[in-house]
Amino acid sequence: MMATIAELFPICRSITGEGLRRSLQILGGVVPLTTTEVPSGAAVFDWTVPREWNVREAWVKDPSGEVVIDFRRSNLHLLNYSAPFHGKVGLETLKRHLHTIPEQPALVPYRTSYYEERWGFCASQEVVSRLPPGEYEVHVDSSLEDGALTYAEHVVAGSTTDEVLLSCHCCHPSLCNDNLSGMALTATLARLVGHLRPRYTYRFLFAPGTIGSICWLARNETQAHRIKHGLVVACVGDAGPMTYKRSRRGDAEIDRAVAHILLHAGQRFSIRNFTPYGYDERQYCSPGFDLAVGSLTRTPHGEYPEYHTSGDDLSFVHRDSLIESLRRYLEVLEVLEGNGRYVNLSPRCEPHLGKRRLYGSLGGQSHAREAQLALLWVLNLSDGRHTLLDIAERAKLPFRSLRAAADALLASALLRSEPE
Ligand code: ZN
Repeated sequence: MMATIAELFPICRSITGEGLRRSLQILGGVVPLTTTEVPSGAAVFDWTVPREWNVREAWVKDPSGEVVIDFRRSNLHLLNYSAPFHGKVGLETLKRHLHTIPEQPALVPYRTSYYEERWGFCASQEVVSRLPPGEYEVHVDSSLEDGALTYAEHVVAGSTTDEVLLSCHCCHPSLCNDNLSGMALTATLARLVGHLRPRYTYRFLFAPGTIGSICWLARNETQAHRIKHGLVVACVGDAGPMTYKRSRRGDAEIDRAVAHILLHAGQRFSIRNFTPYGYDERQYCSPGFDLAVGSLTRTPHGEYPEYHTSGDDLSFVHRDSLIESLRRYLEVLEVLEGNGRYVNLSPRCEPHLGKRRLYGSLGGQSHAREAQLALLWVLNLSDGRHTLLDIAERAKLPFRSLRAAADALLASALLRSEPE
């Protein structure tokens, strides 16, 4: 994941363009991807796919001819989607096109102007404050032309057509946590799930934020109902604790599965209710779809000082954080895969577990009590109504213990599966 992030970091991405295509191509080296190009001008619900944006170079020269702001040094320096421009302007005019963060004077902000055509640059307040008066030469060799918006998918077929959606945005340029961490984790997760024979069909979607998920939903409107559970993956590499934002439904199985995993992970975490602000859960949870899609991040967007600045660089994401995030995602999928309803086939008094060698047959000695309790809970609540996740919540035991207990009871013919 760290190597993928480092390779993607220098590329200038946006909601369209060659940088986005190149990034999806690199992710295609982690896991095979199918790309879709949606032409500029295409109507997608209430939106229109914008013209494609590409950049060759962009710089500002001061009155002495020295380059003081240069896209080549960092792609954050150019306003994302900046219109082309070449000309000479005075300092005051130039400053109207410069974006800074006065409160964080050393950092370069990330700014976009997708739907209003203008040119602009981003720079640190320190650099801008030092600019001498005089005439500046401005050069933005970008293009806004008819082309396409690109998104990519990887699907792992399961034994049912019911789907789990893992979606990440991939439209930010050189920003590591907000964007690249999600892209790298989603691709890695896709590769790992590809080694399994899952029950659900898994769809991994790599799309530019907002307009990309809107395009996907517009193109897949009739099959979107197959998505039974989903997570929006973003900001998974910083050092902060895990944060889960519930789906619009609030009590969907995905909401409960993530809460359960975070509760038993033994680390700090927080859980928040849905708000119609954030990443692509805004689209998946729009009322016309109302899909059970939450978002599992570490520190949420906008809540760390490096957010949308040059401070969100390679030093801001950590290997250990990425690994822990990946582990949590896998654990959540394990709950979704293993959840189900069962019926106790020996419900009149407890069945004799000792003679079936079920006591002590699970786990090591230290887990013996937990394994025993798990057997008793599964037997007691398997009445065809309670799911294993219901039982895990009520018993305050890790899902994995209940899954192991159910498997042992199934093998002893004390349990049968209740069809959904
Ligand atoms: Zn962002």
